[in-house]
Amino acid sequence: MPIGFIGLGNMGLPMARRLVDAGHDIVAFDTCSDALARLGAPAATSPRDVADRAETVLASLPNPAVCLEVATGSAGVIEGARVKRYVDLSTVGRPTAAQIHELLAQRDIVALDSPVSGGVSGAERGVLALMVSGPRAEFDDLEPVLNALGHPCYLGDTPGSAQTMKLVNNILAANVLVATAEAVVMGVKAGLDPAIMIDVLNAGSGATSASRDKFPRAILPRTFDYGFATGLMVKDVRLYLEEARALGVTVELAETVGRLWEAAAASQGADSDFTSVIKPFEEAAGVTVRPARR
Ligand code: NAD
Repeated sequence: MPIGFIGLGNMGLPMARRLVDAGHDIVAFDTCSDALARLGAPAATSPRDVADRAETVLASLPNPAVCLEVATGSAGVIEGARVKRYVDLSTVGRPTAAQIHELLAQRDIVALDSPVSGGVSGAERGVLALMVSGPRAEFDDLEPVLNALGHPCYLGDTPGSAQTMKLVNNILAANVLVATAEAVVMGVKAGLDPAIMIDVLNAGSGATSASRDKFPRAILPRTFDYGFATGLMVKDVRLYLEEARALGVTVELAETVGRLWEAAAASQGADSDFTSVIKPFEEAAGVTVRPARR
């Protein structure tokens, strides 16, 4: 029996490929026919069609509204004849995950939320962190499939717990990328070579996931092609702020970081790569973070 996969974007395509490489038959759907062609697996005509053909359906989709429609809309997974288990790999926040869980449960479909961390390269190499919440027995059944994608971590059976974990992860990733961008721009303005700065940070106590990975890969070479859209980071920061405010916890730092991400999306465009967040800092300082020729 094939596994269904919906959403073959930056993350979904390499994840679906990993499943094919691990020997699974895949039936896939994406609204973009090019993405379907790139995978080369049998294509379905709608999320419902996927769920007519597979008992387990995975999805990697851009935002909560799309996830809700794909899972529970009129041509959604919920209408499928064969589906028993729906696994959402997207970042949608706790309330949407809980809503999907509740609506699918009314049709005896089990929902697991399983947001991921590790970026496109982690998806390609099968080393993602997969944060999973849902019934333990379903997680145990699914683990061999998830092992092809990375390291599954079980967060508990409360729907949406894994989403909370993912938002905690991403607010920290959002913080350190803007913090590193702001500080490196300051150093460049003072005359330092950014390539040397990144080497020093990575050897010292200022190292972050941004200095270790995002700067060498996409900022110093000026390619801005890490594979995560600025608009997706804005979505994640907003979801974090919504959940944190609902809990009544302090969000002083996250609000400031959120304003910087909102400004980056406004000036660079929501579809820009999220490493472009450094450009407003560069423009304000009148410098470019480009390594000196050696
Ligand atoms: P993406 O925009 O590259 O891919 C989304 C895919 O969904 C696209 O191929 C699009 O055509 C498809 N799609 C949109 N609407 C659809 C619909 N109604 N039915 C079927 N397909 C539809 O996004 P991405 O970067 O792959 O991210 C996917 C999810 O994973 C997001 O929730 C994101 O926050 C999360 N995520 C992304 C990264 C990353 O580094 N890119 C890392 C971790 C988590």
